[in-house]
Amino acid sequence: MNQHPQKESISNKNESSSQNNFGVIVKIAGPLVVAENLANAKLGDICKVGKEGLIGEIIKIEGNLSYLQVYEDTAGLAPGDKVVNQGIPLSVELGPGLLGNIFDGILRPLNEIAKVGGIYIPKGLAIPSLIREKFWNFEPVVKIGQKIHGGDIIGYIQENAFIKHAIMVPPNISEGEVIDIQKKSLKVTDQAALIKNSLGETIKISLIQLWPVRQPRPVSKKLVPEIPLITGQRIIDALFPIVKGGTASVPGPFGSGKTVVQHQLAKWSDADVIVFVGCGERGNEMTDVLEEFPRLKDPKTGRPLIERTVLIANTSNMPVAAREASIYTGITIAEYFRDMGLSVALMADSTSRWAEALREMGSRLEEMPGEEGYPAYLGSRLAAFYERAGAVECLGSPKRQGSLTVIGAVSPPGGDLSEPVTQNTLRVSKVFWALDDKLAAKRHFPAINWLKSYSLYSENTDSYFSKNISPQYPKILKQTMSILSEEEKLLEILKLVGFESLSDAERLILQTAEFIREDFLMQNAFDEIDSFTSLKKQYLMLSTIINYHTWQANQIAQGKSFQECNKPEIKEFIKKMKFVPENNLSVFEKILESLK
Ligand code: ADP
Repeated sequence: MNQHPQKESISNKNESSSQNNFGVIVKIAGPLVVAENLANAKLGDICKVGKEGLIGEIIKIEGNLSYLQVYEDTAGLAPGDKVVNQGIPLSVELGPGLLGNIFDGILRPLNEIAKVGGIYIPKGLAIPSLIREKFWNFEPVVKIGQKIHGGDIIGYIQENAFIKHAIMVPPNISEGEVIDIQKKSLKVTDQAALIKNSLGETIKISLIQLWPVRQPRPVSKKLVPEIPLITGQRIIDALFPIVKGGTASVPGPFGSGKTVVQHQLAKWSDADVIVFVGCGERGNEMTDVLEEFPRLKDPKTGRPLIERTVLIANTSNMPVAAREASIYTGITIAEYFRDMGLSVALMADSTSRWAEALREMGSRLEEMPGEEGYPAYLGSRLAAFYERAGAVECLGSPKRQGSLTVIGAVSPPGGDLSEPVTQNTLRVSKVFWALDDKLAAKRHFPAINWLKSYSLYSENTDSYFSKNISPQYPKILKQTMSILSEEEKLLEILKLVGFESLSDAERLILQTAEFIREDFLMQNAFDEIDSFTSLKKQYLMLSTIINYHTWQANQIAQGKSFQECNKPEIKEFIKKMKFVPENNLSVFEKILESLK
């Protein structure tokens, strides 16, 4: 939650002098508080509620009644207590110090809170999101007299080994001239630059900017996302790719490997920044994330990956309204890093819990329920959230491109994919990785079902693969998918007739499909070599399987039997190829040569 000096002063003024801005509580129902006569109330305004100053947001206004969702536990509030309007929407502080930190759903820093409040968040606590005392070395890139606009970069801070943090003019400043610029160590609230706008007003630019979380940050233009987000996970990169700026959803029945998939993406994907929103999952699952994320190391540099990560933690026992806000807090932070020209991946776990928070607030507001009790606007809210993903040309100068990829986990009750949250998510996200508990039970990991999953980006990535990997690759990928679906049909037939009644060509399909499943799709996250596979190696692995298949199919077509057209050394190679180190890929060339 922002505690910008600007805002602190607003709040003090309100409490002391303004008679107009406060109303009186007339009803309390869990996280919903109704206040009477809250003058100047606007939808989305933030208010301080009760003696403890709990943070609430106006979500409905009816006559002289304002309905607030309160982000903290409302126990102890009573009718007659005061509600003071802060007059600004729910906003977050954006600036150096976000990376490597853990926040709650309204961006209160959990580590700092733990120092004062122990394991529980004290009510009404006002701790700034970004540490005030720390100095950051600011290197300016603009000069006095220079014209600047919203989104322009005025300087950089080397925040850590991963990220050069761009300090930007807030997007809502239209035009101005630099009249002062610093070149020294600064605290986040210090003046980095002074700007005079066209009206002659001076505007202080510090290292922090505030942004209302429910409003997407503006961009110059949206681009077609075409570059794959390389994850090193073979089934994802090869069969169901996601692009930088794309959207994906992943349903996660318990034990299906959802956490491991998320860790693998956080660890290996070639995004610059990862924002992880733990939204309403059980406390112990979030603890896993909180304990394990800081331990993950960047495989390339050995540095802790938490340095490029922002964690938002909102567990199921925290107030439901804060859960509703947490995904907006997360995506606003992600957009901020995107605006610097970085590629950002946001993971939300899980959007089902977020939707449940919407449902709970909806029912407390006595709205007409839609499907399965979810509010009628569930679909449009989900769409608006995923819509904030994209590859963009960023606002301002220098010209730069950034991307925001959104990966949302859904947890359909009982694994039922026809329920409203999953269905509405499928409508708006373009990749679906269907985690399958049956595969997990067979220890086939990652347990992504290749028949149920899809990616609508394959066309975009095909042209990238042709250009950057091999012109043959898209064709090989199509053959791979077609062999897998033929296997499925053959397995159905096998249930009715015996193996003996299959033709040699059909037996070949079964053998190749087994290679694809066991020696390509199955990938052990905990094996040093197997954990990550480069695109080049993925291509070589699939080429080996498919070329062997083609060679055998030709032999069979020429009248040889299935048994006669085996090359044991190739089979042996396929069984071991996932463990070929990335620096020894030439061994594939020899094998592929022998299949020509
Ligand atoms: P979930 O979060 O869906 O409940 P987890 O991600 O914790 O499930 O996975 C459960 C277990 O499955 C892990 O502890 C691990 O043993 C195994 N597992 C999942 N994915 C992989 C993988 N890619 N490689 C190896 N083992 C895996």
